[in-house]
Amino acid sequence: MPSQKDFLKGFGSVAIHSGHEADGNNAHLTPIYASSTYVFDTADQGMRRFNGEEKGYIYSRWGNPTMTEAEQKISALESFGITKNGEPLQLKSILHSSGMAAISALLLGVLKSGDKILSHFSLYGGTQELMDKVLPQLGIETVIVDLRDLNKAEEVLKNDDRIKLLYLETPANPTIQCVDIDELTKLAKRNNLIVAVDNTFATPYLQQPFKYDVDFVFHSTTKFLNGHGTAIGGVIVGKDLEFMNGRMEKVHRLLGGNSNSFDAFLLTQGMKTLEVRMERHCNNAMQVAKFLQQNNSIAKVNYLGLTSHPDYSTANKQMKHPGAMLSFELKDGLLAGKKFIDKLQMCVRAVSLGTCDTLLSHPASMTHFGVPKEKREKYGITDGLIRMSVGIENVEDILNDLDQALK
Ligand SMILES: *Cc1c(COP(=O)(O)O)cnc(C)c1O
Repeated sequence: MPSQKDFLKGFGSVAIHSGHEADGNNAHLTPIYASSTYVFDTADQGMRRFNGEEKGYIYSRWGNPTMTEAEQKISALESFGITKNGEPLQLKSILHSSGMAAISALLLGVLKSGDKILSHFSLYGGTQELMDKVLPQLGIETVIVDLRDLNKAEEVLKNDDRIKLLYLETPANPTIQCVDIDELTKLAKRNNLIVAVDNTFATPYLQQPFKYDVDFVFHSTTKFLNGHGTAIGGVIVGKDLEFMNGRMEKVHRLLGGNSNSFDAFLLTQGMKTLEVRMERHCNNAMQVAKFLQQNNSIAKVNYLGLTSHPDYSTANKQMKHPGAMLSFELKDGLLAGKKFIDKLQMCVRAVSLGTCDTLLSHPASMTHFGVPKEKREKYGITDGLIRMSVGIENVEDILNDLDQALK
């Protein structure tokens, strides 16, 4: 197993060095292992690998050295600085082909027919659809409430003993709402719930859910962890090593949502710069938010770094910085939104988030085009809402582009 490098003091150093195992041919970087299968010296050795007596790779759906490095790095970052009973917290990560593959595998791994999920109403679209369209057919239902209201959450739990899992996404799409991980996890644990947190928007640099008593964290690694928009990926991270090595590993292998060496290689290289990228992302986002707040054609700016955001104090409590995601509302609605988006010269018109380049999307005409207007507006997705993933370009170029597009 790759060395833990526990002596490293800084997050950035851990991001660069942890998970790396010296290569047999002295390659500086772990190569892209393009091999589906692994050779046994003897039948006996094959048997020992299968029954777990001997460590070693067998078949790439189950893992290979390129994927292991990315997994170990994510475990090191999510557990950075966290101790349990005086020892560094040990985590296990399982890389998947996408964020959705990771979420699906986790939910199918921990829930059974008749169980229910408790979640907040502001969720990633794919997760929402999974809960609405796929899980109910397997007998798994989702109860959605405003989890910013702890009393409401408690009341729901008191009246429904079928709820087995608390599913949190914070900050969440696209109004950048936050829920209180600490308080909700305490409540969930009093009711014997499993707690899972989607940490995609924050990354372990800004927020570490394992500081609280959560059971699982996952990411769409497609976003800030990769950081360059070069590969789709996802990961499940867990602290119950017996469960992760047993049931979860089994479900992962059998559902077949494995990652691949090339994408894992890109992810590993991307994660090495997570700290410097996030510092710049957040710095730029704060300046963009202040600029937008002062602009006459904008009705509202949703950014966790502004005291006007209703979840400012929750974000302040659990995040190192307020993140790189923001959204804002243009006064003149749908037409203004489309016109603004079309005028951008440097910032990129695209969905997704977490890349070096600034990305802007217009939910009403793109991601949420199919959602009826009344339903959209209930979730804060008005016609003039623009979602922005602030990149790491020089901030004056971002501001200039926004300025000319708003004129
Ligand atoms: C993108 C995203 C996902 C889904 O991940 P994919 O890699 O696209 O499958 C899940 N949760 C959040 C918060 C996301 O942003």
